Amino acid sequence: MTTTSSADFQPVLERIAEEMERTPGRGRPADYIPALAARDPRSFGMAVAEPDGTVYGVGEWREPFSTQSITKVFTLALDLAREGDELWEHVGREPSGNPFNSLVQLEYEQGIPRNPFINAGALVVTDRLHTRTGDAAGELLAFLRAESGNPGLDFDEDVAASESAHGDRNAALAHFMASYGNVDNDVPVLLDQYFRQCSLTASCADLALATGFLARHGVRADGGRLLTRSQAKQVNAVMLTCGTYDAAGEFAYRVGLPGKSGVGGGIIAVVPGRCTLCVWSPGLDERGNSVAGVAALDRFTTLTGLSVF
Ligand code: GLU
Repeated sequence: MTTTSSADFQPVLERIAEEMERTPGRGRPADYIPALAARDPRSFGMAVAEPDGTVYGVGEWREPFSTQSITKVFTLALDLAREGDELWEHVGREPSGNPFNSLVQLEYEQGIPRNPFINAGALVVTDRLHTRTGDAAGELLAFLRAESGNPGLDFDEDVAASESAHGDRNAALAHFMASYGNVDNDVPVLLDQYFRQCSLTASCADLALATGFLARHGVRADGGRLLTRSQAKQVNAVMLTCGTYDAAGEFAYRVGLPGKSGVGGGIIAVVPGRCTLCVWSPGLDERGNSVAGVAALDRFTTLTGLSVF
């Protein structure tokens, strides 16, 4: 099969947006906090960025949305860049098969979460990044601003406060891991850092660009290196196997790319060496993945032949 050349990305995106427009059934926005529940499930945007920073987009691709768990990819990369393999002594890299906020596996795995993309694992990564930098959320924000080229990116304080007000499950996860010695910082400090990260607001264009280092095998937008080539492969592999809640098998089957979703309805995806994508539509399926987002990425890899398989 011949694969699509760069010049063809825009018509492909337009075709996908038209198809999504005609597709009924968009799922339901997350409703555990009011800010997410208020979004229109028919909103749709999609962007593709090439490794040189050229970006294509369609629909609401410049509309900011709540990135939520998508930020887990960036905190993972930032911490891995600092501490290397030692991180993997504190968090695993196997799919969990359980919901993202599940407590059940933590007890028989002695406080070591299964992977960095379930909440327990992300809390551990944030804790370790916070210990190393003194400001995990600030580190994340600075990185995303630099990589996206958008200095206006910021946290949404209302969303962060809402996350905190509904944060009993995350608090339980953090305390439980602390009881096993797998959390360094005081739990309230860690939770504050984690909720701020979840509240980061960005558009498809911002996130497609910010994910570019994973298509460039670890190299940042300015040409400096964040991750070794091998570490970039590791992050992409964990995205492929663990990035879409307990539906990562189905996502790999349908889309065939490393991807990471968030309950705000965004999904980022990587075609290593070739491009990065971000799609957003707030209606979620029962596993927490954007219905139109997964469908659009499925169509993208089908129409372009660009997948890792
Ligand atoms: N703020 C959410 C939580 O930690 C993140 C959910 C998500 O996007 O997976 O519960």
